[in-house]
Amino acid sequence: MSRAVSQQADEQWFTSLDPRTAEVIGKHRVHSPIEVRAAATRARTAAQWWGGLDHAERKRRLDAWRALILRRLDDIVELVCAETGKPLDDARLELVLVVDHLHWAARNAEKVLRRRRVSPGKLMFNQAATVEYLPMGVVGVIGPWNYPAFTPMGSIAYALAAGNAVVFKPSELTPGVGEWLASTFAEVVPEHPVLTVVTGFGATGAALCRSGVDKVAFTGSTATGKRVMAACAESLTPVLVECGGKDPLIVDSDADLEAAAEAAVWGAMSNAGQTCVGVERVYVVDSVADRFTELVVRRARKLKPGGQATAHLGPITMPEQVGIIRSHIADALDKGGRALVGGLDSVRPPYVEPVVLADVPEDSAAITEETFGPTLTINRVSTVDEAVELANATRYGLGATVFSRSRGPELARRLRCGMVSVNGVVSFAGIASLPFGGVGDSGFGRIHGADGLREFARPQSVTRRRFWAPLQPNTFARANGTLRRLVRLTRLLYRR
Ligand code: NDP
Repeated sequence: MSRAVSQQADEQWFTSLDPRTAEVIGKHRVHSPIEVRAAATRARTAAQWWGGLDHAERKRRLDAWRALILRRLDDIVELVCAETGKPLDDARLELVLVVDHLHWAARNAEKVLRRRRVSPGKLMFNQAATVEYLPMGVVGVIGPWNYPAFTPMGSIAYALAAGNAVVFKPSELTPGVGEWLASTFAEVVPEHPVLTVVTGFGATGAALCRSGVDKVAFTGSTATGKRVMAACAESLTPVLVECGGKDPLIVDSDADLEAAAEAAVWGAMSNAGQTCVGVERVYVVDSVADRFTELVVRRARKLKPGGQATAHLGPITMPEQVGIIRSHIADALDKGGRALVGGLDSVRPPYVEPVVLADVPEDSAAITEETFGPTLTINRVSTVDEAVELANATRYGLGATVFSRSRGPELARRLRCGMVSVNGVVSFAGIASLPFGGVGDSGFGRIHGADGLREFARPQSVTRRRFWAPLQPNTFARANGTLRRLVRLTRLLYRR
């Protein structure tokens, strides 16, 4: 990556840049594997302290952090804009979601994780059985640049609320956002480094996987996710892997076409298409395809990218992505797709103007690979069943959108993916109680919601004998015939 790297004494530094202007935003350390391991070791002591607090005290601290983030919202919004280039309102939306998730995680951690009684069953009626979700210890979080606050906070907030310390490695493109999160957290939790940040490139992330942390929560591309898993496998460190997607939007014959078109355009183009759950492919039923396409085209033509705070779309944050976007457009056109809005000329680094492609062959890269730019394909299908089939014909399975007045939930259930919005787009990301994650090449494990809290906890089962049961099978001193009587009892209890 084209970051300027400098050496000062034994230390390496790199710069973060504003992708709109190439202006230097900040200077950050390239943390070495030794420094990463030291950070994980310090975090372990912090984890013992933080994990030893009760839920109420952790909630109090997390609420104080939320209040501080809200007081300084303009600062972090500005930093997100500077490091990613995204328009002001995109960054505001991102931070609103951060605050909402932090609130939910802090408020619900005790209810979800505390010790609760479970039935011991008929044969073990003399036992009192409980399960409690205890902190794992230290969680390593590796984050991407496209939502540099919202995405990692989906792991960080839930891991902290579950009583863990966190060592966070932000993307090399957005290290300042990571440092801002850690420094504001330290203001409300000054006692120990419960949330620390290590910065650098891929090697720093790889070192975090090998640093002795108790779990790694990774969000990024599928290719890197596989490398993270391989590194974690060396020490049997559990991983949560949130990767990319190729999310479909299905338009049924009875859909509200205005709403579907608006959702398709916003889902595909907002944040310049750099959204893991962004809309990349549309399958629209023939009978409404002309009208829907017309509505999409009209909307997409009005959108203009730019560097000003009020632009519809910002730049492509990662320079290397521009080539991928261009190649997907070229491949779609070469294979017979039609450009309805824009085309190859729309790619003007660091910006890409909206591109809408129609009749794109299903084997072209614009359909099979994550494009991660402001592009959208619209393909017609004869039935909504065909739409479901094509939507599922991908290695990815992150999110999806369905527009249908009568069959929304039914179609949603048939989609092979982790999350579906019906008659809305990306709505699931804003509902903190809904687990977030994918299947297939989109990864596994869940952030957000109760599942997201449990993802960062180890369930501990405890059972206590309340009294001696008449039958004692678990001892060499058991009476003759104990097992015969137990079998008779089992038959009696479970024969139907
Ligand atoms: P990358 O996979 O390039 O990087 C993700 C993170 O991993 C970065 O911090 C990166 O560091 C780090 N990293 C790179 N190499 C290694 C390694 N060998 N070991 C450990 N860590 C490493 O993804 P992007 O940052 O480009 O993010 C975009 C991707 O993220 C898209 O595919 C998008 O769909 C996905 N994404 C998924 C989401 C989800 O929840 N499912 C949400 C948001 C994004 P560095 O930047 O320094 O190279």
